[in-house]
Amino acid sequence: MRFQEITPFFKGRLPGQLVIQYASHCNGDCPQCGMRRSNSSIPRTRLGKEQAKRLIDDAARHGFQALSFTGGEPLLFLDDLVELIDHATGAGIRYVRTGTNGFLFAGSERPDFEARITGLAARLAATKLYTFWISIDSADPEEHERMRGLPGVIRGIEKAVPIFHAHGIYPSVNLGINRHTGGRNPRLYEPALDPQEFSHLFRQAFSRFYSFVHSLGFTIVNACYPMSDEPFPSPEGNDAAQGGLAKVYGASSDDLVIRFTPEEKGLIFQALFDVIPAFRGAMRIFSPRCSLHSLIKKYRENGLSLYPCRGGHDFFFVEAGQGKIHPCGYLPDTFAALPDIRLGAKPAPPDCHRCEWECFRDPSEMMGPLAEFFSHPFRLAGKLRRDPAFFRLLLEDLRYYRSCDFFDCRQPPNLTAMARFARLLPPDRDLRP
Ligand code: SF4
Ligand code: SF4
Repeated sequence: MRFQEITPFFKGRLPGQLVIQYASHCNGDCPQCGMRRSNSSIPRTRLGKEQAKRLIDDAARHGFQALSFTGGEPLLFLDDLVELIDHATGAGIRYVRTGTNGFLFAGSERPDFEARITGLAARLAATKLYTFWISIDSADPEEHERMRGLPGVIRGIEKAVPIFHAHGIYPSVNLGINRHTGGRNPRLYEPALDPQEFSHLFRQAFSRFYSFVHSLGFTIVNACYPMSDEPFPSPEGNDAAQGGLAKVYGASSDDLVIRFTPEEKGLIFQALFDVIPAFRGAMRIFSPRCSLHSLIKKYRENGLSLYPCRGGHDFFFVEAGQGKIHPCGYLPDTFAALPDIRLGAKPAPPDCHRCEWECFRDPSEMMGPLAEFFSHPFRLAGKLRRDPAFFRLLLEDLRYYRSCDFFDCRQPPNLTAMARFARLLPPDRDLRP
């Protein structure tokens, strides 16, 4: 870790993160996303390379250290993307990420498949890309391909993963948690389903999913928490203040596949929390259990997380339409410019708990305490007394992250180091509130 990467903590800030939606064009048809190709009601826009470069330069000048290119489907614009990745790393941004819905992996039976994917892997390997994700929605290949509207991609992904590994790129799987995670099960749509049964089915779903992606050859896996357009009751019972989420980004929907009641969300987060340790020795699992602990408390005990989201403080989102800077993908407010993360005035304390956008939620939970250690040590001590379990989990997560080389996609997994974190899956517990 470089010194400039930790200097924001001395100011009570986190290393800046910028998510750039390069385009809203997509060839996928996912029910959980408003950018699906069958949705004719949204404008299809692209930021443009020059505007993106200006934003990147700005972010680099202001001390941002993480940058994600998202879409739509980023690889529809591969030439632009490669140029922009080079531009960002050349400007000094170390953690540059992008990913794909996997459309390029269709047609794996064609004779040119291997050459095509080798060419793609070689192009990405020539950049300094830190994370390359491939989205998979279900442990059942047919279900995944039906949801994405991309037939044949799973077989292609299975053939592509070793090609990437041979080029020194270890792609991660991105799961958007949904009701078909473990395969299609109509019981998960039953409103009167017993909570214990719901919980059991989701534990099974996550176990199946992790086993499945491991069998495809993946070594890194992440889970995006469900993002529904629907408003939900706030922990304070102040729904008007919390409100629904705006469709700034568009990567959300009101489809039942992704819409869950608060009780269901609590059970899902608990199931994921329980299942992760059983697979930590086999794959690098990004999802931090300290963050899940906070989400379980939010939905099962109406408790606010100790570390609110840093969206609009240290993390920002740029939409593809007009290139406006937003606090995140779900709040309509805009900023004229990015703040200076290293030297800027002390920001107002973050206080937003409205959603679980994983890209912002997890790093806020994990790095928030470090910033607080320098800015408000007594406040940190109070939180330590209030929720010691959170800090125990955080320390374990950090040790695990180190054994995973902080999910650097250019490093092979260190299975010996990771094995220390493997645990047996605990038995189902009574999850009734
Ligand atoms: S989730 Fe990704 S692949 Fe699916 S419609 Fe949205 S942008 Fe496209
Ligand atoms: S919790 Fe974060 S991502 Fe969600 S609405 Fe608030 S600032 Fe945005």
